Amino acid sequence: MLVYNSQTHKKQELTPVEPGKIRMYVCGPTVYDQIHVGNGRTFLAFDVIRRYLTYKGYQVTFAQNLTDVDDKIINRANEQGRTPEEVASEFSDAFIEQMHRLGVLDPDIRPRATQEIPAMIEMIQGLIEQGHAYAPGNGDVYFSVRSDPSYGTVSGRNVDELKVGARIEANDEKRDPLDFALWKAAKPGEPMWESPWGKGRPGWHTECSAMVHRYLGTPIDIHGGGQDLQFPHHENEHAQACCCWHEPLANVWMHAGMLLINGEKMSKSLGNFFTLKEVLDKYPADAVRLLMLQTHYRSPLDFSFDRLDGAVGTLERVRGTIANLRWAAESAPQDGELNEADRVLGAAVDEASAEFARQMDDDFNTAGALAAIFGLVTAANTYLSDAGEDTSTAVSLRASDALVELLGVLGVESVRPVATELPHELVDLAREQAGYAGDDADEAASALIQARAAARAAKNWGVADAIRDGIAALGLVVEDTAAGTRIKPAKKEA
Ligand code: AMP
Ligand code: ZN
Repeated sequence: MLVYNSQTHKKQELTPVEPGKIRMYVCGPTVYDQIHVGNGRTFLAFDVIRRYLTYKGYQVTFAQNLTDVDDKIINRANEQGRTPEEVASEFSDAFIEQMHRLGVLDPDIRPRATQEIPAMIEMIQGLIEQGHAYAPGNGDVYFSVRSDPSYGTVSGRNVDELKVGARIEANDEKRDPLDFALWKAAKPGEPMWESPWGKGRPGWHTECSAMVHRYLGTPIDIHGGGQDLQFPHHENEHAQACCCWHEPLANVWMHAGMLLINGEKMSKSLGNFFTLKEVLDKYPADAVRLLMLQTHYRSPLDFSFDRLDGAVGTLERVRGTIANLRWAAESAPQDGELNEADRVLGAAVDEASAEFARQMDDDFNTAGALAAIFGLVTAANTYLSDAGEDTSTAVSLRASDALVELLGVLGVESVRPVATELPHELVDLAREQAGYAGDDADEAASALIQARAAARAAKNWGVADAIRDGIAALGLVVEDTAAGTRIKPAKKEA
């Protein structure tokens, strides 16, 4: 299977360090506020990548950090008159809650920066000992960018060009404007930890390298994050690992494209954002998923509520097709010979499954994979409307199972049919209205459908309506489909 490595700008064969196993790490959020839908896009993209690798049979170990000490958290705490710990704890929980709502699977390992200080100090000491970092004596420690000959390779930047844009802040003690802080001396009132350089806290890039090394071991197979993390964050993570442990941090670097709103990157600083929470308060998670997965993970994604409404409709259509296939499977006479239409749908199932795999094997092209699924939905609808009552149980079930399975690989789980039991009160209604003498709700439903059809045929509208109203009073509806009539629960909100 091919994955695009943003370090080499090429698709390459995925070759795990240990055969059959994938170790992956995706930078987590800085927990100072609710995340926005743009952040959600990146986390969703890697959730699907992880799910697909697992589906392919890899044993995936997935780690994701929570950055719970940072300037943004400290500033937010000061604004709100709270401690940074309170802010970080509230928004760590909020992040995990929204990930659960979106159906993003929990990481296997979720380290928190504040709990990993010893591993970070150890890495910084290693860098100082090897001449890649220095402590000028003011309590800070800096990484010496020029000491790393490979610096710039993750993001394709040239150190001499970077130099032009860099500048030294007035109170910095950097030897070179390109250098970055591994450790920052504590300011009064900030969270701080003891270290060989005095009380302080880690720089932003420090935690990920230390955690990757500690929990997964370097190099890992896949390192991910949003496109905006490629430089400087990932470049710096990589430099730290190369210089400390003499190994690349990751073999493949993957970056998700930015979610845009009206053509601009969604971001907190531009103020053009919707929180994931407010979107999930209004829309089903699977509609958000479908919308996002209809764009390849590396491409920019245009977010709008119109598109989200469209995704709600798509989800409904797919759900309807799955329900109708299952209904056809239940109501069809048991299978005899397959006819031409059955063979056509059977072939469409095979083709959709193969095309799904081809698209996903090509750098996780979820847009192509969804197109294959929608192609099967169209084929199934054609089959159902042309076949009338002459559907094959086996072929209808194969098609509905394939749709449920393939969508499930993408984490779209809400299309999975739940067995709906008809209420036992139908028996009483059928005894009254259809002369039914048994004691089974499904049989009673058939008796009522037949009695209603007979009443309508005899233009006996009073009886037909009484049956329909009795059914409605039980929260059920009578639905006429090409494959026959059924009684089912009235539509509920998704
Ligand atoms: P942060 O908490 O700012 O580090 O962001 C968490 C994740 O969201 C990172 O992987 C970012 O690259 C990603 N991200 C931020 N803004 C966007 C956006 N507009 N679209 C997609 N991903 C984003
Ligand atoms: Zn990181």
